[in-house]
Parts: sequence; structure tokens; C-alpha cells
Amino acid sequence: MRLSRYFLPVLKENPAEAQIVSHRLMLRAGMIKQAAAGIYSWLPLGYKVLRNIEEIIHEEQIRAGHHPILMPTIQSADLWRESGRYNAYGEEMLRIRDRHDRDMLFTPTAEELITDIFRSHVTSYRDLPLTMYQIQWKFRDEIRPRFGVMRGREFYMKDGYNFDLTKEDALHAYNRHLVSYLRTYERMGLQAIPMRAESGAIGGDDTHEFLVLADTGESGVFYDSQVTDLRFGDRVIDYDSHADCQAVLEEFTSRYARTDDTHDEAVFHERVPEERRREARGIEVGQIFYFGTKYSEPLGATVQTPDGTQVPVHMGSHGIGVSRLAGAIIEASHDDNGIIWPEEVAPFRVGIVNVKQGDPTTDKACEDLYAALTAAGIETLYDDREERAGAKFATMDLIGLPWRVTVGPRGLKNGVVELTSRRTGEGEELAPELLMSRLP
Ligand code: ATP
Ligand code: MG
Repeated sequence: MRLSRYFLPVLKENPAEAQIVSHRLMLRAGMIKQAAAGIYSWLPLGYKVLRNIEEIIHEEQIRAGHHPILMPTIQSADLWRESGRYNAYGEEMLRIRDRHDRDMLFTPTAEELITDIFRSHVTSYRDLPLTMYQIQWKFRDEIRPRFGVMRGREFYMKDGYNFDLTKEDALHAYNRHLVSYLRTYERMGLQAIPMRAESGAIGGDDTHEFLVLADTGESGVFYDSQVTDLRFGDRVIDYDSHADCQAVLEEFTSRYARTDDTHDEAVFHERVPEERRREARGIEVGQIFYFGTKYSEPLGATVQTPDGTQVPVHMGSHGIGVSRLAGAIIEASHDDNGIIWPEEVAPFRVGIVNVKQGDPTTDKACEDLYAALTAAGIETLYDDREERAGAKFATMDLIGLPWRVTVGPRGLKNGVVELTSRRTGEGEELAPELLMSRLP
């Protein structure tokens, strides 16, 4: 992409309304624009990041054997009356009336709708286990939307639902999600710590939240410092195997990690030696639940068992805050000059800075590089604007692409360009032909 033709409305000044760094940087980097309180448009740069996050989630869900679907944002109130949640949900639900005076709502979550799909089509234990998920906009009329996309009213969420014959199978689904979520966050360059949590409105027996450590997080967290040393890495896992999922989990959940909701100071002291006790803030980027027959029973989602009886299915649900993650990644990865994108979510991998736009040799070298990188499938943003070099560097630092290639007449005279890592700030001079092989 040529920056001269892109839509990148960067802001020079810090927007007064932004209280935390991710909100400030998303506005300054021209990623989002507020449309109403807690409701945002995603501009080209921001939308690219959102799609990259979404793509990683899809890949990891499909790897775990879950099926992507898409359900509507607007639902009829009827199903919610059946489950008893229409009145219980409260003020956070955006209620809408259509022209025929029917009660509708904008989905805050979708347990009812998916259970209705299930009960209409599945009748036998032979069709289980089954897990479906979607990535779709949600609306919750938060009393205090704040921090940009971190606590919006409209937000993008991955929500998944598992259907199993027995509690044991449903707990395997739970564990499978725990593992696949860990892998998902790690691929985004994040360390999200699973923490046992309270269940809130969705309700149920078992629940874990995933928190990313950041000073601006809304939750207080207490943990054993050893949990931050754990990495999934390239470990291969058989998601169909209960034992395999269990083995990973033992590693990741055996050490103490709780949010302030469930933290128990006495247990903390008993289980964690003093030098490893940590207290910090965290951002919730996901949550998984097992809730048994809470929805299958009232909605009549039953299957026939091998011995011919009808039983309600065991269910769980699982959510990832897709739009919140864009902010959370920035909270976890930035410096004074701007964002530092992890490779897998970066909107472009490489930025080319032409320090002397209009100089024929420099222009030609940039064009050649841009063409070569693009042909190699490396997403590149070429800053070809008639701007001072300083302003171009500032823009590149702000938008945080992992690699910057600086091209100028002085280097070219010696046959080199400079490749700089946004994360380390380290630069290396090299011949343009060698560039491709140096990118990790
Ligand atoms: P929170 O405690 O932050 O209000 P929640 O527990 O109500 O979130 P869930 O129902 O578990 O949220 O939704 C799954 C995920 O969706 C959360 O882990 C979070 O990452 C994201 N999420 C929830 N509410 C919002 C919001 N208002 N804005 C952006 N993301 C949200
Ligand atoms: Mg939650």
C-alpha cells in the first residue's frame, strides 16, 4: 500500500478524551473513530488489525474441531422469555420494538439462539459432541463505556457453544477450549493467564477468565510469578484426547492465579512462597463456562441416549473479546513513540520510508523494493508522501509496524538500505537484495 493513497488519519495531538494509552494510540494512529458513546467505526488500519485477530481465532478454533457459523445480531425476545433471561438480563440488554410491535433485542450473547438451532436439528447422542462458534457484533448497554474499544457498548466477540452427552464430555470441551484459547493468545504475542473466576450472568459451575497483565486493567489479579514463565510454543496437541488436554492444563492451571473476585489471601499465602507472590492489574480478554443443563432443560434441547432415554444435553459457552484484544495488545506492547505490533497481528509487516521523495535514484530504489516485497506476499506500507523524513519516522513509530526499511541517497551511494526492528530499535545496513532473506 502506498501511504499517499491510503486513508490513515493520524492525529498529532493527544486526544483529550482518551484516558489510557491504547485508546490514545488507536485514535492517534487513525485506527478507529467514535460514532457514539461506546460505538466505533474501524478505519482501514484498525480494521486490518481486527481481521488479523479474527483470523487467528478462526484458525485455532477450527484446529480444535469447532465449526464456524453466523447468527443474527437482532433476535426475537421469545426465546429469551423461554429461558427466563429476558427479564433477568436487565438494563444492559438493548431492547427494540419492530413495526408490528414485536419485542426484539440486539444480541448481548447467544446461548438461547444456538440452543434453538440445536433442538431443531439434533435428536441423537450420535451427533455429539458438537461445538459451534461465531465471531459477531454484540451489544451491551454498559453503564460506563470507557477506554475506547476496551469497554464498548457495541463490541466484536467470538462466542462458542458446546453440546455434549455427559458432564464428563462437556468438561473435556471446557478443557479443549482452555488449551485452544491459550494457544490463540500466545499467537497474538500475548500472555493471557487463565484464572478461576465467578460466573456472573451466564451462570454455572465452572469458569475461567483469561487476563492479560497491564497497569490499566480493570481487574486486580494475584498470582504465582511462575505462571508468567509458561509458554505453549510449538507443542502439538491432540484436541480429541482428554488426557492430552488435561496434561497441558495441569501445567497452566496448577499454580495460583485469581482475580479479586475469587482471591483468597490465606490460600495465596499457603500455596505461594513469598518471593513468588505477585499483585497486579489485568484485562479480561476471554472467559469460558461449563453450565450443564441450564439452557438445555428450559428450552428442551434433549437427545436420545444409547439405551433409548431422552436427556438434556450438557453445555458450555466460551467468549473472546475480539475488539477488546486490539486495545489489550497495545496496552501490553507499546513505548513512548507508539504501538509495537506483534508480527502476527501487525497491519503491515514492513514500512518503507523514502527519506528523499522526488530524488530519482531513491524513488527508484523504493519502488523496486516495494514491488519485490509485495510480490513475495509481504504486506508493505510505502511512505511515498512529500514529507520530511522526521515526520515519516514519527508516523512509522506511531503505527508500530514490526520492520522499517529506510531508503536514502546516502545509503544508496554505498549500495545499502537500513532495516530497523520496531521492537528493539536496532538497525542493520544491508544491500536491498538481501532484505527479504533477513526478515524473520
Ligand atoms: P466484563 O467482566 O469485562 O464486563 P464479561 O465477563 O461480562 O466482561 P463475557 O460475557 O465473558 O464478558 O464476554 C466475553 C469477552 O468479551 C470478555 O472476556 C471480554 O473480553 C469481552 N467483552 C465483554 N464485554 C465487553 C465490552 N463491553 N467491550 C468490549 N469487550 C467486551
Ligand atoms: Mg467475562
